Amino acid sequence: MSNGQYSSSLEPVISMSHLHRIYHLAGEDIHAVNDVTLDIWPQQMSAIVGRSGSGKTTLLNLIAGLDEPTEGEVWVLGRNLTQMNERQRLDLRLKQLGFIFQSFGLMPLLTARENVGVPLRMRSFAPGEREDRVMEALDWVGLADRAHHRPYELSGGEQQRVAIARALAEDPELVLADEPTGQLDTRTGRRILDLLRRLVEERGVTLLIVTHDPQVMAEADIVHELRDGALVETRIKEGVEVPGVA
Ligand code: ADP
Ligand code: MG
Repeated sequence: MSNGQYSSSLEPVISMSHLHRIYHLAGEDIHAVNDVTLDIWPQQMSAIVGRSGSGKTTLLNLIAGLDEPTEGEVWVLGRNLTQMNERQRLDLRLKQLGFIFQSFGLMPLLTARENVGVPLRMRSFAPGEREDRVMEALDWVGLADRAHHRPYELSGGEQQRVAIARALAEDPELVLADEPTGQLDTRTGRRILDLLRRLVEERGVTLLIVTHDPQVMAEADIVHELRDGALVETRIKEGVEVPGVA
């Protein structure tokens, strides 16, 4: 798997083993992630939930290779992040991971089309292919007719759909979402959630959402709950099969 290609559906997409992240702040130790051991399986919608401050974002940053664990290991798409250098982790993020954020993370001066194209510009696509991917992604989220709008000319739900298009234009195997419905009203959140479900069902993406939105918890195939940085409970939706769990 040294070429970064990952295909086995019997292997977890993410595997965390006795993961710890301790922040040292003004003489105080904050145990933001406390001994988390957890697998995320392919082509499912998994959620990591917990109150504000329970360590969700810290955990997501460790999975994305944006932060390093104090102790323990993280495997993503068959590769041990702790043994990769910064350049390799950047490459993994660019080519195999997609990101969706609570605040959408769009560039205010760029159009929807340009925003979707940003991550693709960091890779070596021919301009024609880049443009095809951008339009296909915008079309898929139902925003082909908003391609030339800037974020301030779009509703919150539409902005999040642009962000989803940006994540899927890269054709990632794994999409990480941090509170994707956090800034949306319930109805708009529901629509975004339906779109995220389609991302899993139609495009075979593995989706990991960290959230405290009850609507997301009800929709997710499997829910892992964090409390004070520790995993306290895992709930599997009825009818969903999870390898390795009886
Ligand atoms: P959540 O996303 O669940 O709200 P976080 O992962 O952001 O939680 O934070 C978990 C804990 O770690 C909190 O107590 C927070 O204050 C602390 N924390 C997060 N980031 C840092 C940091 N860079 N330095 C110090 N403490 C941090
Ligand atoms: Mg957070």
